Amino acid sequence: SAEEDVDPEETMKPRPPVVVVMGHVDHGKTSLLDALRKTNVTRGEAGGITQHIGAYQVTTKDKSKITFLDTPGHAAFSEMRARGANVTDIVVLVVAADDGIMPQTIEAINHAKAANVPMIVAINKIDKPEANPQNIRNRLLEHEVIVEEMSGDVQDVEVSAKEGTGLEELIEKINLQAELMELKARPDRDAEATVVEAQLDKGRGPVATVLINRGTLKRGDTFVVGTQSGKVRALIDDQGKQVKEAGPSVPVEVLGLSGVPSAGDMLTVVENEQRAREVAQYRQEKATEKRTALAPT
Ligand code: GDP
Repeated sequence: SAEEDVDPEETMKPRPPVVVVMGHVDHGKTSLLDALRKTNVTRGEAGGITQHIGAYQVTTKDKSKITFLDTPGHAAFSEMRARGANVTDIVVLVVAADDGIMPQTIEAINHAKAANVPMIVAINKIDKPEANPQNIRNRLLEHEVIVEEMSGDVQDVEVSAKEGTGLEELIEKINLQAELMELKARPDRDAEATVVEAQLDKGRGPVATVLINRGTLKRGDTFVVGTQSGKVRALIDDQGKQVKEAGPSVPVEVLGLSGVPSAGDMLTVVENEQRAREVAQYRQEKATEKRTALAPT
């Protein structure tokens, strides 16, 4: 299995962190993701056309990169985890400074703890007159989330997604956390990637956005993904541009699939199309057997 097939240490290279934003409804997850996307220095130069592909990368001032899953909410995170896909390295927990610790805040804390993923707390909406960030820190304590200034090890940062304040600091803290984790992957091998989202596109057929776990996915590669197979016809990055290849932690849209896979499915490059079809067919049969076995009689 993939777990047993470990790449030798000397083949591994640093890779960008993959970050997911979680928190209670209306605390500002979508606003924060939008605001962070705009901090991208390279994109600013390119003219700012962004495409929603389920994940995007930000290039920071010091030229490092951060990959954000562009799907706020917990469903995608739990679904992927349930399928054994651990794509996220860091959770940014958004808490509105004028509100408090709400049910979905607690749910997010529990998700991060269960997945053993470090958290950074973004105390949002500090532009509001009624904002009380200290209250948030105190309330977090009750849920065993202890921020640095309370002698804990969880980084926190005050932000306003609306006014764009604190975003550079948040990015710095993400980079700091990522450095501590020494995230690495081998780039020069056949790719393994995880499906973040997938759908049937009217003009383009089945399309999947994947995050590369390791290796480099290239145009022309043949692959298996869940119970589907395919050959990479095109790779499209988060700015809507065609690219020839994508390496570790890079999100790309993949065109050339036989059908629509599920979020959390693993994409694996195999030697040829025949092999890809065989594996996909075998998996389809297995899936059918399972359904038949489970069916009530
Ligand atoms: P989500 O449900 O967590 O994705 O929250 P949204 O991003 O949709 O934000 C919910 C509401 O809060 C919207 O009306 C936003 O305009 C507002 N909002 C988000 N961030 C801020 C902020 O930093 N300051 C203020 N004043 N309002 C914000």
